[in-house]
Amino acid sequence: MGGQGGRDLEAVERQLGRTPSVPFTVVARCPDGHPLVIRNRPIDAEGRPFPTLFWLTCPDAVREVARLESGGWIARWNERVSSDEALAAELAGAHEEYARERARWMPEAIAFGGVGGTRTGVKCLHAHYANHLAGGRDPIGAWVAERVEPIHEAGPATGAGSPVAVVDLGTNSIRLLVASVRADGGLTELARDMVITRIGKDVDRTGRIAPGALARTVEVLGRYCRRARALHAPAVRVAATSAVREATNREELERAVLELAGAELEVISGEREAELSFLGATRGLAGALDARGRPLEARPPFLVVDVGGGSTELAVGAERPEAAVSTRMGSVRMTERFVAHDPPTAAELEEARREIGAILSEVEGTIPAGSARTLVAVAGTATTLRAIDLGLPSYDPEAIHRTWLVRERAERVLAELAAMTNAERAAIPVMPPGRGDVIVCGALILVEVLRRFGFERALVSETDILDGLAFEALEAR
Ligand SMILES: [Zn+2]
Repeated sequence: MGGQGGRDLEAVERQLGRTPSVPFTVVARCPDGHPLVIRNRPIDAEGRPFPTLFWLTCPDAVREVARLESGGWIARWNERVSSDEALAAELAGAHEEYARERARWMPEAIAFGGVGGTRTGVKCLHAHYANHLAGGRDPIGAWVAERVEPIHEAGPATGAGSPVAVVDLGTNSIRLLVASVRADGGLTELARDMVITRIGKDVDRTGRIAPGALARTVEVLGRYCRRARALHAPAVRVAATSAVREATNREELERAVLELAGAELEVISGEREAELSFLGATRGLAGALDARGRPLEARPPFLVVDVGGGSTELAVGAERPEAAVSTRMGSVRMTERFVAHDPPTAAELEEARREIGAILSEVEGTIPAGSARTLVAVAGTATTLRAIDLGLPSYDPEAIHRTWLVRERAERVLAELAAMTNAERAAIPVMPPGRGDVIVCGALILVEVLRRFGFERALVSETDILDGLAFEALEAR
């Protein structure tokens, strides 16, 4: 799950004409990048229910939908629903799915009702349209889209061609990026999202994807594919890494991907994964400026480390990845192998550390990792550690992207996390649901990489394999 950056907060304040009363995440954007739909936390600061999960914020979109409402369309839809059983069933499905989606962030919030807090019928076309754009299966929202789109004329600044959509199906998380290419070759994000479904649960031990993990993942994939289509991406590229690579039973997943995305599942090798992470993390990095406009001092060659759930990839290079390696160590895999206590015992962590050390010795013999001048760390372990290090009250990718995580600080955060229980870690405000139990092993891997290759700090990047996949998809067409 992304988060609200300072710029997004300002933009939404301008759009709404007031400060939003709950923290939010932008789930869809208009062609020039301003927020279109936000996802709200299900309760406000006083603990009162906030049932509108998806909120349409773009004023132009709001105005167009209001025009339909003042044209009497709410009453007309309710008449249709009362006389059309199939439509009524579809609408009931939309309400139910909406409540389930809200419960993903807070289980008790399933009781707050369906679309926009409604239990039956149609109350607000804005809420249905927002749900459609967020990837909900919503007949009313889809109808609104046909009536009001395009909201904005696509100007030359937004670049030519339709957006690309890519999904990274990792061991721990499933992530989406929908982006269009700007005139300068950079990407404009239309959607970036992450949900932890842990498709790789027990794959290290059983070699098989568990039915529950598959169902959780396919549900999110369906939502992502519908959102990509609602944002006018003609195709969705789905790439799977470590857990799916190793699973012997991926036919069911392959069928689901073909049906939902309309494309074959791409199972990518560890080396390709390392190269794509490198591409996504380092594009435009040499000579980049920090948030205050000063040079970042990120000098090539770069070592990009991508700590995943099932594997960790490392790639070295200046402009392009010149050497890359994939290892069988990851936050989920190491936790399942070494950690049996909550919190983990010192002996368990020492065992894990020894295993990581042995694997890094192999890495040393495979790629010239020590020759890099800048270590770049991507993916959820690194970004979450940096968010904790910064003491952020809520996850904010803008505050994290291309900032330095100093080794001593990483070591301190690791020690603090290792002393906590799973429940205590899960309660950290920036911890995404589903990461708290595996972040200790993830942090251990990152700290050992810093130590082994002699880096005092790592540049943390929010752009990673997803961006690499998107650049590649854009170049291919
Ligand atoms: Zn807009």
